[in-house]
Amino acid sequence: MKPTREELETAWDRRLQTDRRELSDYLASVDDRHHIDPRLVPPIVWGFTAWDYIDPAERDMIFAGMTRRMLQRAGQVMPVYQRSESFQAALHDGRAAINSMDDLVGFPMLVKDGEHGFRWRALEDPFILAPTDAESTSTTLTVYKSGGTGINEATEGKATPTFLSDRDMKMESQASMTRLLMPIGFYPGMRVMNVYSVEHKGGVMLNIAFHLLGVGLLHPRRQTEDLNVIVNDIERYGIDAIAVVPGTVQTAKTGQGPAKGGGITFQSIYGRDRALFGPKVHTAFITGYAISDDVVALAERLRERYDMRVSSGWGASEAHPGGVSPVFGSEERICKYNSQHLIQGPHHLGVVDISSGTPRPVRVGEEGLLLVTTFGRHDGTLFANYVIGDKVKLESLDCACGRTTPVVSNIRREDNERELIAGGCAYS
Ligand SMILES: [Zn+2]
Repeated sequence: MKPTREELETAWDRRLQTDRRELSDYLASVDDRHHIDPRLVPPIVWGFTAWDYIDPAERDMIFAGMTRRMLQRAGQVMPVYQRSESFQAALHDGRAAINSMDDLVGFPMLVKDGEHGFRWRALEDPFILAPTDAESTSTTLTVYKSGGTGINEATEGKATPTFLSDRDMKMESQASMTRLLMPIGFYPGMRVMNVYSVEHKGGVMLNIAFHLLGVGLLHPRRQTEDLNVIVNDIERYGIDAIAVVPGTVQTAKTGQGPAKGGGITFQSIYGRDRALFGPKVHTAFITGYAISDDVVALAERLRERYDMRVSSGWGASEAHPGGVSPVFGSEERICKYNSQHLIQGPHHLGVVDISSGTPRPVRVGEEGLLLVTTFGRHDGTLFANYVIGDKVKLESLDCACGRTTPVVSNIRREDNERELIAGGCAYS
């Protein structure tokens, strides 16, 4: 029997109660919760759903303590920062003055391209992005390349390496399992078709997260698989849920761009066999930038008609998970479809305005650059204020679903080199 929405909501509430206790026990077990060494945090701690619901001021202080340590370490062991005068200048005698995550704006932004960018240096010597003190050595770290999928001409052919250990992947997968997959209606025992490419880190990590959750998985044989085969397999294998890109994605340059990672999309599967959706496939995770209005309208129709659960998320090779639009909770909540809660910890996602030339955290209603800081990582690449190339609008700090994390909307790719430099992005 498939669980009902009410049963899943009850299971989620129970999970949250347990996780509140476990997080509270964990924080009571450390010497000083505002000075935790992030490398000593067990991966499972990042899977506690309670992180998304606790007092935001308290969460901010805990993460600021970890970020302080990470930045100090990064200044010593990450070649990209060791060689950066502006980064070293932001560290005062090797110490990072971070008492709140907002203080991160005092650190330089790590930009990819242009004169001040690190990517051309990383292409010459990728190991500038690998910490020299990693407990897993650089020979056992896995390199995941990003930015080469050709979503637009700005990223095509360039691949930013992210170094990750097995332990780092466990941490991200644990966080993704509980804080991304469970809130969007995935549950143990369901059968999932994962259409995301396992050639990309996001696809690999989703697989690990699905396995942690305990779902049965089916992949298309290849990304260019015939749509009829996909549709037949959904029927034949009794698939309950699909993880797939939407039909179209928004890009800054072209408005509507082609789907990321291949031709199989939510819309194309729906277009081939509408009868699959609702009674059979009742859960869909569709991500890959902003979901177009027509896909949102379709998702709403499916929800009204079949109580189908359609959600989105945000993530990147450099940091995962990043955002989620949960499907449970009151109708008043704003975190639906393109409005996503940022998932804070094991990475920090900041939204910063640089239009005045002095970076500052944005206020509700404003747009800004999404900055990634991977403060929780054990062995892999430490990104600090990394300009991943996405812009978002800060919608709310007070969502009716009870999460205390920011809700952002209109996530879209936008690398504008001139604007970045004018905004103070100097990295050499
Ligand atoms: Zn919410």
